[in-house]
Amino acid sequence: MSDGRAAKRVANFIKPLRVEPGSEVDLTEDFDPRYKAGMKKSEGLELLGTGVSLLADLQARLAAQDTYGVLFCLQAIDAGGKDGTIRHVMSGVNPQGVRVSSFKVPSAEELDHDYLWRYAQRLPSRGEIGIFNRSHYEEVLVVRVHPENLDRQKLPEEAKGPDVWHRRYREINDWERYLTDNGIKVVKVFLNLSKEEQRLRFLKRIDRPEKNWKFSAADVHEREYWDDYQEAFSEMLSATSTPWAPWYVVPADRKWFARICAAGVLAHTLFGIDPQYPTLDGKARKELLAARRGLEADAP
Ligand code: AMP
Ligand code: MG
Repeated sequence: MSDGRAAKRVANFIKPLRVEPGSEVDLTEDFDPRYKAGMKKSEGLELLGTGVSLLADLQARLAAQDTYGVLFCLQAIDAGGKDGTIRHVMSGVNPQGVRVSSFKVPSAEELDHDYLWRYAQRLPSRGEIGIFNRSHYEEVLVVRVHPENLDRQKLPEEAKGPDVWHRRYREINDWERYLTDNGIKVVKVFLNLSKEEQRLRFLKRIDRPEKNWKFSAADVHEREYWDDYQEAFSEMLSATSTPWAPWYVVPADRKWFARICAAGVLAHTLFGIDPQYPTLDGKARKELLAARRGLEADAP
């Protein structure tokens, strides 16, 4: 398939997942975690294979061109499938061109800085794909659902008022716009899991010894805040899906389908950049030909 046709197919496929900038999202009403575009799993797995090779080619070109970087932000509730999505979607790309950063509870040093500081440290360079496994959006999610996190951020009084979340949305939008304007494209995927599927995944994590490490009792406690999270997600999606950095809500109850969607969103971003291998100008070509003649003359 030609680049143009593949790009169009990908664009159509991910369109229903896109949060239109300016729209008001109610996650529980507007997006179905079980949606699968009428696809069978066997078809899906084949498509994922195609997507993975497509990404490998696009990423090689992105790296060679060395002009744009891509920041791929992945957000989800616990057991939403972030780790597996990264493992599968990136399985074909050259590890030299990708950097994954996972964000946990902030350290003392991180809390001593402005809230975007630690994310800015991990931005991709030109030619690179940076993956944020959790991201600066935690600053309007877990920090909002559990405001004691905000207390720990050592903010001055005037930066803590009730308008803090709307201010953060604006600051995040501005920051992403700045990055985009400077050649670092930002793309954001929210893995949308149902409460019942989270329960089933937690049970698997408890029952299967090789999955025990992924589970902590605190995860069940966090589940009690399900509705608060859904509300925080909805507000975040409404306020921060922008023309320069839109959100995609990916149905996450079927892991295989979520992975295809995530691959699609990343591919769409890369198609938008349309990275090209650098071509040589006349002088560089002459130098290359001279070097070739030298090597030929050097034959034993
Ligand atoms: P995991 O992804 O399971 O390794 O867990 C990472 C934990 O770090 C989660 O419980 C997040 O809620 C928490 N976390 C991530 N970012 C922040 C933040 N900015 N403030 C507070 N907690 C955070
Ligand atoms: Mg966890």
